[in-house]
Amino acid sequence: SRSPVSKKQAASVEFRNVTKRYGNVTAVDSVSFTIEPGQLVTLLGPSGCGKTTTLRMIAGLEMASEGQILIGGRDVTNLSAADRDVSMVFQSYALFPHMSVLENVAYGPTVQGISKKDANEMAMEKLEIIGLKGLEKRSPSELSGGQQQRVAVARALVLEPQVLLFDEPLSNLDAKLRRRVREDIRELQQSLNLTVAYVTHDQEEALAVSDHIIVMSNARIAQTGTPRELYEEPADLFVADFIGDANIISGEVLDEGGAVANVRIGGVDIQLPRRGVGRGPVKLAVRPDAIALDEGSAASGKLMGTVKKASYLGTQVEYEVESPIGELFVVQYGRKDPIAPGTPISVSFATQRGIAIIPGA
Ligand code: ATP
Repeated sequence: SRSPVSKKQAASVEFRNVTKRYGNVTAVDSVSFTIEPGQLVTLLGPSGCGKTTTLRMIAGLEMASEGQILIGGRDVTNLSAADRDVSMVFQSYALFPHMSVLENVAYGPTVQGISKKDANEMAMEKLEIIGLKGLEKRSPSELSGGQQQRVAVARALVLEPQVLLFDEPLSNLDAKLRRRVREDIRELQQSLNLTVAYVTHDQEEALAVSDHIIVMSNARIAQTGTPRELYEEPADLFVADFIGDANIISGEVLDEGGAVANVRIGGVDIQLPRRGVGRGPVKLAVRPDAIALDEGSAASGKLMGTVKKASYLGTQVEYEVESPIGELFVVQYGRKDPIAPGTPISVSFATQRGIAIIPGA
């Protein structure tokens, strides 16, 4: 049997100051980024931020108003979709209902003038990779949602594109299937060494599958980084709030210079990585598991609070805590007994990770 390795080299995708305008709406505003060959990069952001438009400009389904788009180092800015060697898996799958699974997948090569025999062989190879062998004679309506999604992926892969694009590929699947299909997509991307651009508005999905995430907000890039960089070092309040949960707390940096900043929060001083921030007021993005709660009485140098609500969720307990620095959302993992609502507690911070100083806030 043939090796399931793509014969083509994965290609990079580069945007150089790309802008897209629809009349007087600027959907994408001077955006620049590079997707390295063989990487899965997600475009993440709230509805209307410009991620689908960005994806469609990679595909050539929308033309840039300004700037340059390069695929594999080649300037494709003015090339049509058909000339770009890029395939897209649509949210709706867009399968032909009157064709069999095999015919759906073999359609692309046939249109390119490849003989029916060869096209079917190419299609069968991809159906096998994607785990649909045996279902090739069925029509799409005889498949589950997850299977239809895989036919759409096989169809996108059949011509071995340099870049594969996914537009919210999981949105038509139920929650349980979503997790499995996203892992399947990641596994396929890694085993075939594909360059993938992936649009989602779901931050958990983006964290789970991506090499890099491009967070978009209002037609611009808010921040680019690995899932971990975005979670641990959000550049601004938007990213801190959009990626995971964060308590946004006011603080004050007390000193200037050095790798470590002394930061005062609610009368308590803690040390945090400085991240280039000088003396003065700042905001802190504090992850729910970076806050520790301890039952105990008030003492000087301690920040005291009260448990308002405790939810036992098996692997973790979630708390709402009233404190002088505001209401806090706290998650404690491990098999500790939940602290009852009304209990006075001291609040402390795990300063090694999970708290980011937001510069310039
Ligand atoms: P969603 O998650 O809701 O799909 P998105 O982040 O993908 O949102 P886009 O679809 O890229 O956002 O849209 C970005 C902006 O451009 C929006 O303000 C949208 O209304 C506008 N827009 C998109 N397509 C067109 C179009 N064909 N004509 C006019 N305006 C458009």
